[in-house]
Amino acid sequence: MRSARGPAVLGALALAACATAPPQPAPRTPAAASRCSPAPAFAAGGERATLWLRHSAEFRAASEIIYRAAEAALRAGLADPAWTAEPAQTGDLSALPPAVVMDIDETVLDNAAPQARMILEETCFEEFKTVWDAWVAERAAPAVPGAAAFIRAARALNDPQGRHVRIFFVTNRECGTRPGNDSPCPQQDDTAANLERLGLGSPTLAEELMIKGERTDWDSEKLSRRLEIAKSHRIVLNVGDDFGDFLPDVRRQTAAERERARCAHRKRWGRQWFMIPNPMYGSWLVTLGPDLAAALAADPPVAANCDTP
Ligand SMILES: [Mg+2]
Repeated sequence: MRSARGPAVLGALALAACATAPPQPAPRTPAAASRCSPAPAFAAGGERATLWLRHSAEFRAASEIIYRAAEAALRAGLADPAWTAEPAQTGDLSALPPAVVMDIDETVLDNAAPQARMILEETCFEEFKTVWDAWVAERAAPAVPGAAAFIRAARALNDPQGRHVRIFFVTNRECGTRPGNDSPCPQQDDTAANLERLGLGSPTLAEELMIKGERTDWDSEKLSRRLEIAKSHRIVLNVGDDFGDFLPDVRRQTAAERERARCAHRKRWGRQWFMIPNPMYGSWLVTLGPDLAAALAADPPVAANCDTP
């Protein structure tokens, strides 16, 4: 973790999606209130975001809407041999069978439950890795609303050449040793088992589940893994919950730079790129910096219209 003393306000649960935890904003609540004092608890401030994900019909409706739209886009993309969600892929891609790239955490697997636990138990920053790994070992994450139906529907589709759609899971969950477990990567075993428990396994899941660090160049940036997939497949869709699931270097970008990147790819959103809402944590929170009070008071650098510079 890069900033082991950094607090995690607004439920900045790094989770496995950012197993190397990003620097976190400073707390707005007095650190003395935390059992982790003088640091705040890891997920301090994440109550409303977590409640929204766990309890609101609004989130379930929104997520299902996005996944239904993604399925419709997938059908359109399958029919077009030049359609690709990966900017590095160009030209006639009809020689390649189709694929969908999906993130795991907060895209396919819902980790709001451990987030709630960490809030209630005031888990400290230095305890996060252990708590997170125990959650992964439970293999009990439910599916994000709409994700399971989307994956099943996608796998049942073919391109015009009759080649079926493969789902590749590009996740920043990473391997780590675990006492009493001889597996070289218990986290990969657990994630596969969790997916299988939800009926989302496949005979080739081991190849399709691409864990951070599984190869030396598979780091937190997901581009190298997408490029590996792009060698053999046309990436028709990309689904994630973080800017970093789509674009590189987003953690180093300012809010204005991220906004320009959002606009630069405006024709991909909702067509080839689909974003699931995650208000609990993510690179968006990192971008706000350490002073959340200042961020609350500031006007965000939002482009009113991406077509107007
Ligand atoms: Mg994620």
